[in-house]
Amino acid sequence: MARALTASVPGIGMTSERTRARMVARLRAKGITDERVLAALGAVPRHQFVDSALASRAYEDTALPIGFAQTISQPYVVARMIELLLAGRDAGRVLEVGTGCGYQAAVLAHLFPEVYSIERIKALLERARRNLLPLRLANLRLAHGDGYAGLEAAAPFHSVIVAAAAPRVPEALARQLAPGGRMILPLAASAAAQRLLLIERTGRGSLVQTELDAVHFVPMEAGKA
Ligand code: SAH
Repeated sequence: MARALTASVPGIGMTSERTRARMVARLRAKGITDERVLAALGAVPRHQFVDSALASRAYEDTALPIGFAQTISQPYVVARMIELLLAGRDAGRVLEVGTGCGYQAAVLAHLFPEVYSIERIKALLERARRNLLPLRLANLRLAHGDGYAGLEAAAPFHSVIVAAAAPRVPEALARQLAPGGRMILPLAASAAAQRLLLIERTGRGSLVQTELDAVHFVPMEAGKA
């Protein structure tokens, strides 16, 4: 299926590697410095995660619609959040909340030894599964569920990355963070004002929060759909 998609977009099969390299160069220019992260974004074929009508725009640094009123995250934001998770430490087991089309999950699977990703919209999760199949990422597990509850069965996590904005830090996610663990999430103080929040669980178990960049994410919603 991914092959058919590539073939149906004039030129993208041949040029995607080059356009991806240009996208990586732009990420570098915008301040992303972690070579591991840049290599992962350079390796994942983002055009295979969007509708064929949008594939020619897949390597622009913007969010794009993926159906169900959701969007594929902007490459810069994906890179920035993962860079913050990895800064100064090794990758461990990671939980992603909000699989969407599966793009960021694929990037994570290039960087973390064990990746779990949870999505509340079943039909979207199935689409992600189809998008991800040709990439054969053996270290990635997808789950249909409500990210507000985290993923108890695979906890604790060394890293948690949330792709939708919650009004407050989901308590279960904080609980499922291992000592020394780190979570990055967009927090929505109001519908208009969202900020990235970095949360670290110290070795002693307390949580330390740092507020970072202003961002714009779709809202995190409760319950399965
Ligand atoms: N990571 C995706 C971005 C998807 S947009 C990518 O790489 O493109 C955010 C996603 O979060 C949407 O698919 C939305 O359905 C999902 N979402 C929102 N609230 C959620 C919740 N409580 N649990 C799990 N997923 C949720």
